[in-house]
Amino acid sequence: MRGHYLSPVKLSCYIHVPFCARICTYCDFYRIVHDPVWETRYVDAICNEMDIRFGQLQNITYPGADAGDIELDTLFFGGGTPTVLSADSWSKLVARLKMHARFSPGIEFTTEANPESATPEKLSLLNSLGANRISFGAQSFNSANLERLGRLHNAEQIGVAVSSARSAGFNNISIDLMYGLPDETDSSLGTDLQSVVDLNPQHISFYSLMLEGNVPLRYQVERREVPLPPDDLVADRYQRAVHFLSEHGFEHYEISNYARGNQLCRHNLAYWRQQDYIAFGPAAVGTIGDQRYKNEPDIFHYVRNLAHGKLPVADQEQVTPPKRLIEAIMLSLRLSDGLDTQRLLLEHGYDISGVRRNLIDRLQGEGDIIQDRNRLRLTTKGMFRADLIASSLLPDFV
Ligand code: SF4
Repeated sequence: MRGHYLSPVKLSCYIHVPFCARICTYCDFYRIVHDPVWETRYVDAICNEMDIRFGQLQNITYPGADAGDIELDTLFFGGGTPTVLSADSWSKLVARLKMHARFSPGIEFTTEANPESATPEKLSLLNSLGANRISFGAQSFNSANLERLGRLHNAEQIGVAVSSARSAGFNNISIDLMYGLPDETDSSLGTDLQSVVDLNPQHISFYSLMLEGNVPLRYQVERREVPLPPDDLVADRYQRAVHFLSEHGFEHYEISNYARGNQLCRHNLAYWRQQDYIAFGPAAVGTIGDQRYKNEPDIFHYVRNLAHGKLPVADQEQVTPPKRLIEAIMLSLRLSDGLDTQRLLLEHGYDISGVRRNLIDRLQGEGDIIQDRNRLRLTTKGMFRADLIASSLLPDFV
């Protein structure tokens, strides 16, 4: 239906699918072992959540708007493992979204996938529903590591999944790879990087193993049953990997992300650039204007609330101007584009170049940051400790 607004309200949309065939030993995301009964309840609940949230958007945030006025510019199914959902569930979720919003003609529609669950049939279905980007959780090409991480696939299945995705019509493929893994050597990481590049993806997410929360691998490391490489070696490997990937045509555009042919992940860029995004599913976090919500990270509460017509909100907060300023600094410095200091001054009233002059000069001297007129950018060395550097540049009230 065509709406009343002269130009559509553009949004990004995230759907959290909390099911996995098996739980990886390092994973601290909200996820549960897949169960078909809970899948059905989840799909019913998330459809209810879409009805309520899009209703609020059309009645309160953008009064008088209808489905023709709300346009999804990016759509991202993450998890969990979205590819464990049945064809029926996928069709219902996409149909419900289309009831409430139109898909932009140039929409970036991504789904995450694990190689073993990305069957040719599932990939064709996803493509026919409009998915045009797929992000495979490969993590490693080393069998011992894949097993230790609790992954269900082997190295061969990664290649098979990528070529099945291409045959199904996907020409924007991303691959996740981890470093800082147990028993990692220069040579094993080199093999992993070469294996990813050989698959010729458009995008690579290359990120370090983080052991947070109550995950089994963390306890094995703490008991010294599993050795991890020391931090300085991990930092050194990160720098060499950035160099290797750029030599193979991958632009390093964010701390952990690399793209060829300008195929940057638009969905994640929207988040790093502090644009609005609506989110659905247990544990999903969305921000519309100055309102941010986090859904219950518990499928039981999530389903029960929505069955009673209640939003499953665990946390709601106002993104105040000081919070937005802090996020602008923390998020912009993640990107190779860096921080626009003039814009920060105009929009937030914070003269970072003046207030933090001595620190910026010191960081430049140490090779962590580059200031080029109104741009403040982290170097590859600086990116490895981006959060620490960005925190030190925040205003005094923090
Ligand atoms: S497949 Fe992904 S979301 Fe699922 S347990 Fe493993 S790391 Fe976590």
